[in-house]
Amino acid sequence: MQSYTNGAATNGNGPHVEEVIVIGSGPAGFTAGLYTGRANLNPLLITGNDYGGQVSITYEVENYPGFPESLSGPELVEKMKAQAEKFGTRVEFDYVSELVVDQHPFLVRTTLGKEYVTKSIASSKTKRLNLFGIRRSLK
Ligand SMILES: Cc1cc2nc3c(=O)[nH]c(=O)nc-3n(C[C@H](O)[C@H](O)[C@H](O)COP(=O)(O)OP(=O)(O)OC[C@H]3O[C@@H](n4cnc5c(N)ncnc54)[C@H](O)[C@@H]3O)c2cc1C
Repeated sequence: MQSYTNGAATNGNGPHVEEVIVIGSGPAGFTAGLYTGRANLNPLLITGNDYGGQVSITYEVENYPGFPESLSGPELVEKMKAQAEKFGTRVEFDYVSELVVDQHPFLVRTTLGKEYVTKSIASSKTKRLNLFGIRRSLK
């Protein structure tokens, strides 16, 4: 078993292992954060460079249930973030540059030079993650 110390917190017995890392801060990412947070999995969400995803550039969102007066995309993003954080989602402003998924637990590397070890990864669209390198693609 390889050991990783750069970025992932250690407790003296090897690297800290996350239960789940959520990649992306669009509606899918914050939904994954909300659900895994409610399941007490203490998720770590890595936003990517497009904080809030596509909806963050939307001027007016008219079709989300529960918002009959409409709201702007950025307003919706902040509500989704607050709801996910309410249940323990930790939000990191960083970008996933590499996933190592030919081992378990998985390894996640970021452009800020951090490395995380995680039991599971949640992402809306792995084909659109624009990763610099994936040692083995997720199917
Ligand atoms: C102009 C516009 C207007 C729209 N208006 C509406 C509307 O009114 N109502 C509606 O329902 N839908 C609307 N949509 C569609 C809606 O925005 C999308 O369906 C929705 O954003 C998809 O969410 P998603 O989380 O799956 O993906 P995205 O929103 O695409 O989010 C992807 C996330 O992944 C992150 N990411 C990518 N690569 C990495 C990486 N390597 N590491 C970390 N993170 C990464 C990005 O930073 C981003 O946060 C609109 C879309 C656009 C473009």
